[in-house]
Amino acid sequence: MGDRAEKLAAAYQAARTTLPVLEQHAATTDHSSEFPVKAVDELRAAGLMGLLVPVEHGGAGGDLGDLVAVAGLLATKCVSTALIWAMHCQQVDCVVRFGPERLCADLLPRIAAGDVYLASVTTEAGKGGYLFSSEAPVVSAGDMLAIDRQAPIVTGGKHADGFLITMRESPDADERRVTLCYADRDQLTVETTGTWDTLGMRGTASAGMRLRGQVPAHQVVGEPGGFRAVAAESMIPAGHLGWSAVWLGAARAVLSDVLTMMRAQGTDKVPDLTADRLARARIDVELVASYLAAVRDEVRAHRRAGTSLSAMPTQIHLNNLKVAASELTFRAVDGLMQVAGLTKGYRRDSPIPVERVFRDLRSAALNYSNDRITTATGTLSLLDRVVTLAPADLM
Ligand SMILES: Cc1cc2nc3c(=O)[nH]c(=O)nc-3n(C[C@H](O)[C@H](O)[C@H](O)COP(=O)(O)OP(=O)(O)OC[C@H]3O[C@@H](n4cnc5c(N)ncnc54)[C@H](O)[C@@H]3O)c2cc1C
Repeated sequence: MGDRAEKLAAAYQAARTTLPVLEQHAATTDHSSEFPVKAVDELRAAGLMGLLVPVEHGGAGGDLGDLVAVAGLLATKCVSTALIWAMHCQQVDCVVRFGPERLCADLLPRIAAGDVYLASVTTEAGKGGYLFSSEAPVVSAGDMLAIDRQAPIVTGGKHADGFLITMRESPDADERRVTLCYADRDQLTVETTGTWDTLGMRGTASAGMRLRGQVPAHQVVGEPGGFRAVAAESMIPAGHLGWSAVWLGAARAVLSDVLTMMRAQGTDKVPDLTADRLARARIDVELVASYLAAVRDEVRAHRRAGTSLSAMPTQIHLNNLKVAASELTFRAVDGLMQVAGLTKGYRRDSPIPVERVFRDLRSAALNYSNDRITTATGTLSLLDRVVTLAPADLM
C-alpha cells in the first residue's frame, strides 16, 4: 500500500511536470493535425502510461479516480494529448481487468515502462460507431487467430505500439458475438487507409487503417465472443469517466483563461450580460464536475465491493455522464467565446485557446454518438421507475 501511495504521488507530480511540454506543442499539433509525439514521449518518460498498471507489474496501481484526476490536469494544456492518454488508459484498464495472466505478464510491464501506447479499434466501416457488434471475424488457424480489420478511426494509430481490436467471434458467429483481441504492432501489417483532417481534436491523428496479421489465442481479452462484459465493466466506465474528465479540464481551463484575461485588463465590474454569461459557464462546469465526482465514486464503490457495473442505474449514470459532460462543457466554452469576443475568443491567434478548445469540444457529442447513448438510456430508464440517483446518499 505504501509503495502504491508513493508511486501515485510521484505520478501526480510527474503529470504536473509534463504540462509545459503539452502546452508548448498544443498549437502546432492542432495546426499540423499531427500526433503530438513530443508530448506523448513526455508522458511515456514520466511513467504515466502505466498509471493504471498494478504495482506488481511495475505500474503506479492507480484506479479510475486517478485517471479522472490526471486526465483533467493534462486537458488544461492540450485536449488532444489528454484524450490520447485517457483512451490509452481505457484500453489498459480492459487488459488489467480481463487480460489472461500470460498476456498481462508480458504486456503490462512494457506499458508501465512507457514502451507501449495502446490504441483502440472498435469503429468499423459497415456498422459505424456501434460498440456491441463487429463484422470482420477472427479466423482460427491452429493456435493462432487471423485478423483482417478495417478501422476507419484509430486515435494515434500510426504511432501505436499495440491495438485492442473488436472482432466477430468467428466467421459463423452472429455479429453481436464480439471478441476483443490484443495485437502487438509487430504482429500486424499496418496500412493507413484514410486521413484525419477534422474541425477539432486534430492532434489525435485518428486516421483510418487496415490491420492484418495473426495473434496467439492467449491474446483474447475477456471470453471469446464475450466483449459485452469487458465493455460494461471496463471499456465504457473507463471511457466515459476519462473522456468527461478531459472535456471538463479543457472547459475549466478556458473559463480560467477568460477570467484571468478580464482581470488583467483591469475588469473588476462587468456588464450584467457578461456577468450572466460567466455565471452560466461556471454553472455548467460545476455541474459536470459534481456529476463526474458522483459517478466516479459510484464506480469506485462497485469495484471495491467487487460488484458489477452492469447494474441498470450505474449504466444509466455512466451514459448520462458522457452526454451531460459533452454537451455542457461545449456549451460553457461556446458562451465564453461570446464573452471573449472576436479578438480574444474567435481568432486563432488569440493568446488564449478559446477557439481551439471550442473546436475540440465539438467532437465530444460525436465521440461515440450521443444519439446512440440517449436512445439506449431512454429505454433503460423504463426499467428504473424509482429513478435511482448517482449520489447514493442524496435521498
Ligand atoms: C476524437 C475522436 C477520436 C476517436 N477515436 C477512435 C478510436 O481510437 N477508435 C475507434 O474505433 N473509434 C474512434 N472514434 C470514433 C467514435 O468512437 C465514434 O464511433 C464515431 O465518431 C461515430 O461515428 P459517426 O458520427 O459516424 O456515428 P455513428 O455512431 O456511426 O452513427 C452514424 C449516424 O447515425 C446516427 N445514429 C446512430 N444511432 C442512432 C440512434 N440509435 N438513434 C438516432 N440516431 C442514431 C448518429 O447520430 C449519426 O448521425 C473517435 C472519434 C473521435 C471524434
